[in-house]
Amino acid sequence: MTSKQNEGQKIRILDPATVNQIAAGEVVERPASVVKELVENAIDAGARTIRIDISSVQGGISAIRITDDGCGMSPADAELAFVPHATSKISAIDDLFKIRTLGFRGEALASIAAVAKVTLVTKPRGSTTVAGTRLIVIGGEIKDKRETGAPEGTSILVEELFFNTPARKKFQKNLNTELARIHGILEGIFLAYPEISFRFYHNNREQLVTDRTSQKIDTIARVFGNDCARELIPVSSDLPFMQVSGFISRPAYSRKDHDRILVAVNDRYVNVPSVIAAVKEGYGTLLPRDRFPAAFIFLAIDTRLVDVNVHPTKKEVRLSKEKEIGDAVREAVLLALKENDLIPEVVVPRQENRELGASVTGPAAISSGVAEPVVPYKTGIPEAATVPKTDIKTVIAPEFIEPTHTGTVSTDHRLRQTELPSGVPKVTAVVPPMEVIGQVGGIYILAAAPDGELIIIDQHAAHERIFYEQVSRSMAARHAQELIVPAIIHRSLKDAAILRELIPALAQEGVIIEDFGSGSFLVRAVPAIMGKIEGPEMIDDLVSDLLKNDPTGPVSDRERITRIISCRSAVKAGTVCTLEQCQRIVDQLRVTESPFTCPHGRPTMVRFSRTKLDEMFKRT
Ligand code: ADP
Ligand code: MG
Repeated sequence: MTSKQNEGQKIRILDPATVNQIAAGEVVERPASVVKELVENAIDAGARTIRIDISSVQGGISAIRITDDGCGMSPADAELAFVPHATSKISAIDDLFKIRTLGFRGEALASIAAVAKVTLVTKPRGSTTVAGTRLIVIGGEIKDKRETGAPEGTSILVEELFFNTPARKKFQKNLNTELARIHGILEGIFLAYPEISFRFYHNNREQLVTDRTSQKIDTIARVFGNDCARELIPVSSDLPFMQVSGFISRPAYSRKDHDRILVAVNDRYVNVPSVIAAVKEGYGTLLPRDRFPAAFIFLAIDTRLVDVNVHPTKKEVRLSKEKEIGDAVREAVLLALKENDLIPEVVVPRQENRELGASVTGPAAISSGVAEPVVPYKTGIPEAATVPKTDIKTVIAPEFIEPTHTGTVSTDHRLRQTELPSGVPKVTAVVPPMEVIGQVGGIYILAAAPDGELIIIDQHAAHERIFYEQVSRSMAARHAQELIVPAIIHRSLKDAAILRELIPALAQEGVIIEDFGSGSFLVRAVPAIMGKIEGPEMIDDLVSDLLKNDPTGPVSDRERITRIISCRSAVKAGTVCTLEQCQRIVDQLRVTESPFTCPHGRPTMVRFSRTKLDEMFKRT
């Protein structure tokens, strides 16, 4: 405090009105914060139905009204509620560590009333003797108080927000941005409290309405849509000090950012980066590095371990045992992904009023949003319909190209590399048994599953997954195998510098490379699992792949090398396979731990359920 303006000034204690306005700046940043505080008060008051009304004129929010059927307030309490630090929720500092309510600082109403015109109408629940109260507070001063007839509960109307703080008023973004923020806040609150019915209106037009339900998934479907809810699987885990519950998306549903990973700690939506990171980690290779799942994680944590008093708006909490909490969330996610059938189902939008026979161009997409035109099956093979079930293999005959002899031998070799040791392998994930029907385009394997399901498998992605798990699981797979003729590769000096650093990591994975200086390297051995058939070009490619990937990415060198080796060694797309070979790929895939995606997170299979097929053929 040595600035010129301050010289010669005397210290004085600020008057309460000024203190309130300063404090208001922290709690009431923008209209959305008003909505958040008032809705949270209504929840704390035990409301079963909460209505939110936003009015706007000329591109700005003109009024916010929150109406609840909660416990209401007596005339005396109604007045006290606007006094700073007046709260019914805690009485001493110890209470801070057993907080179950959303509010406790006693600041919100005082702060809001300091910078707006507030009209409160309230009546205590279940009381026949006390009348309703109507109170008007403007800029922190009570302007009017009278008895009134009112329904039980509380209604708070906030107008002229920031009328006395012009700087903050100017700071507001345009109407749509402010409305979007309100939406964002409400979505989180709606999800955390499925047992409350929320009704949100803008200029009397319904925006989002939830019904009372005991099922969180119903509310998720309402708020984020059925497309999202359909792809969710439950997570849960029990620790002595915490319970994890909620839902995560199957890998087929992913998003560009983590805006749909919502974390609630004791029913309060908060920003906990460590938990968001743990969710993403739980997916491991099931998702590409730059994609995020949807996740709704509810943590019920011993309140002694949660400090909510970190931030005036309580957007953040401080967690003791943060590491243990993160670990538990990651494990819960991992387990859920392992225990569920993650094969994405093909989604075909209903085609309303469309004439059969007219050219059908509506998109069919797997739920990850990859659109493909639906082409009606016109030419086909007429016999198809009459072919008995057992003969179904002949149906794909016209597409079936005979594999060449050398091709078959090398595919056999690759498949042998990933054959598991004898004994009946345990199926670890929930993949149905599949009978291969045929192969299409040298890329896709068609298989029939029980209940008349059709499953399409990407043979390269599938075999990549199989390889990946074997290489990462077994030390033996990483054994180096000397090349009969060592391969020489030449790289630019820049590449050489990166490659030199990777030599030890490569050696661990069974790729033995020696630096000859000035950009030349000698490759002496490759992992045994890649087999001897690989020539120097392949090794050169492998090195290119390694150099291409961003070496500073979050994945370890070893992990990167494992992925590249798997990709390089797997049966390529475009390799024509015999039915028997296809079946071997499918069987091997079934015994992997994460059969549903390749190590880069792309799906290995998609399914057409019997119901879906019936729907597509209008048999329903
Ligand atoms: P806090 O929520 O932190 O206690 P507020 O300023 O938000 O502080 O509210 C002050 C008090 O007013 C609350 O503790 C509560 O007793 C009362 N109150 C506020 N809103 C409502 C409501 N909708 N229904 C009943 N009581 C309310
Ligand atoms: Mg409050």
